[in-house]
Amino acid sequence: MTVSPNNNIEGAVRAEDCEEVSRPCENGEEGSSEIQVEQGEESRQPKGLTTPIRPSQHEVDKHNLNHATFRNWCEFCVRGKGKEAPHRAQKGEALRMPTICMDFGYMREKPKQAGEDSRPILVTKCRGTGHISADMLISKDHGYGVKRIVQYVEKVLGYRRVMMKGDQEPALLALRDKVRALAGFEVVDEEAPTGDSQSQGDAENTVERIQAQVRTLKLALETRIGADIPEDHDIIPWIIRHAGQVINRYRIGEDGMTATMRVKGKDFDKEVAEFGESVWFLFLKSKGKNKMRSRWSTGTWLGVRDESGETIIGTNDGVLKCRTVRRKGTIEERWDVTSVEGVRGTPWEPEPGRDSTEIGRKLRVWNNVEKEEGPRMAEGMDRP
Ligand SMILES: [Zn+2]
Repeated sequence: MTVSPNNNIEGAVRAEDCEEVSRPCENGEEGSSEIQVEQGEESRQPKGLTTPIRPSQHEVDKHNLNHATFRNWCEFCVRGKGKEAPHRAQKGEALRMPTICMDFGYMREKPKQAGEDSRPILVTKCRGTGHISADMLISKDHGYGVKRIVQYVEKVLGYRRVMMKGDQEPALLALRDKVRALAGFEVVDEEAPTGDSQSQGDAENTVERIQAQVRTLKLALETRIGADIPEDHDIIPWIIRHAGQVINRYRIGEDGMTATMRVKGKDFDKEVAEFGESVWFLFLKSKGKNKMRSRWSTGTWLGVRDESGETIIGTNDGVLKCRTVRRKGTIEERWDVTSVEGVRGTPWEPEPGRDSTEIGRKLRVWNNVEKEEGPRMAEGMDRP
């Protein structure tokens, strides 16, 4: 298979390319009461190989200078270094229809019980791009899981049709049905709902990668602040979400690209702090208001939103978003056990007590105080 140099990244994975995939009768089960042996106009759907997603011409030109690293879109690399294709048990159309594999995992060795408050992690992997999402929920039927998947597929992946695969666990099936009911995109049924070991393997493997990344980030933060973070602390679900984003943004695959590059056509290039680091941040849209007050405040860095590129900041009163962040000058200032411990607000309720999953620019407490005296500042705000 040759790849035209004009192929762009989106062309290989977007829903537009998949129009003819989900025809209802692909294996001739319908209308087969009479056996037809003569040549007709119908033909079986061919099984398409994965189309490598090709990077920009600039990247290709750089690669062509030495072919040092194997790239699956490079003809010479494939011919000269390509290994045998890994065994794949999937059906042909699964690769062409955007497919999201899902599974639940846990951070603890054993969940308290499968029921309420077991805090499962809902993990998804987009098969075509390798893009993943990881979100902690209160329980497997927590409504936030549905909202999050809808938002993720619409805003981050941008698909208009998608197939959602997982094991036949009732909680996953229920989740898929709720997503279908709520979503602005089409959730396509799979042809053979059982026994797809490939997507199950994909999902389980993704859960393990997330768990490893979360453990690492949590250990790093605990060491930085010199304290253990309890499993039910509000900061934990933010670590989990961030772990998935780190993998998407920074891990490079055999095609030389990150999952972010495959999905968005460009790499993540925002400046970041360490997870849990204490930083200065500038209130969004605070320009010109109350000039006597500093527009800067201090909070805990919790990551960058995929949807908007805004930074997520944790404070004692809730989680908010902002655009401008400054690092603090010394290690002692950056790593503050009380500010990490004090973070309140989860992805499903960023501002405790306000019934919304939307991350605000300000917190309600501050809005009230501000009428009189400007945003309430955390202690130590008299510095720059
Ligand atoms: Zn090459």
